[in-house]
Amino acid sequence: MHATRPLLKATDFPAIRRKTLDTLQVNLGYKCNQSCLHCHVGASPHRTEMMDDATIEKVLAVLARQNIQTLDLTGGAPELHSGFRSLVVRARALGVRVIDRCNLTILSEPGQAGLAEFLAAHQVEITASLPCYSPANVDRQRGDGVFERSIAGLQQLNALGYAQASRPELVLNLVYNPQGPTLPPPQAQLQADYKRELLAHFGIRFNHLFALTNMPVQRFGSTLVSKGQWATYMQLLRSAHRPENLDTVMCRTLVSVDWQGHLYDCDFNQMLGMAAPESGPRAARIEDLLDQDVAGRPIAIADHCYGCTAGQGSSCGGALGEASPPLAQPT
Ligand code: SF4
Ligand code: SF4
Repeated sequence: MHATRPLLKATDFPAIRRKTLDTLQVNLGYKCNQSCLHCHVGASPHRTEMMDDATIEKVLAVLARQNIQTLDLTGGAPELHSGFRSLVVRARALGVRVIDRCNLTILSEPGQAGLAEFLAAHQVEITASLPCYSPANVDRQRGDGVFERSIAGLQQLNALGYAQASRPELVLNLVYNPQGPTLPPPQAQLQADYKRELLAHFGIRFNHLFALTNMPVQRFGSTLVSKGQWATYMQLLRSAHRPENLDTVMCRTLVSVDWQGHLYDCDFNQMLGMAAPESGPRAARIEDLLDQDVAGRPIAIADHCYGCTAGQGSSCGGALGEASPPLAQPT
């Protein structure tokens, strides 16, 4: 795999600083039951990096101490972590909103019996990848049979009450990302298309669609280099930069925690190994958040940041420039 950090380092991206922290995005480990082409984590079934119990305890302590509203669980497939369910139960008991970044096929993996029912019982908000509503496109990007299993997973979640008007507390959002080196189309129109097609063909309902820009890091970035598309894609991102998106990029209010407990300004920076600028000689750690306020601190930037501000903008909650809902708001 080609290293992309050296290609991103020299940047003229504007300096930005943190606001009040409201979300801990915790990467429980890089193991996944899939190995998608666009994956910015490089996750796969062969990865062994997983968060240990002591670090999970620190995550819970920070949630309680700092009154953080949202715990956003990611990976890999976060559900593959043996402590996933107990972390969810304890975070919910603290009154924290929990998001599970779910790849949908995990719901039908051996060893995951009762997962969908567990998520519903604890009112876990699900954010699920479905990069297209056509089987061929999804399978090409995410692997053979992924579309069919994803549809089955969505139907199972709908049957449990997710995205149904009678259960507004069960939120199911979908994530779209382009198949190749292009910007995502307008999120509102794409959401309307997804809603129409998924309902007509599969009887599936969901709350919101988040349209994400592919970031030039890890596997996607490496593929750009291999195909000679790096410079063109970076030029596309830079030329579409909108300064008004700078105010709402996700790193303003979110901290990303890696499986070892190190802190980063976002999970893209985590994948690039770019620690926050003021963390000193060692990367800041989750326990530092027990007694430190990160508001006002500078954010580590590089050229990939243009992926967040290009066009309608992009974050783990979808477009920045459209009326995408605040992460905390069920619909
Ligand atoms: S399902 Fe998600 S974490 Fe797993 S390989 Fe695909 S993109 Fe990466
Ligand atoms: S890539 Fe990360 S640090 Fe850069 S603007 Fe986006 S969220 Fe912020």
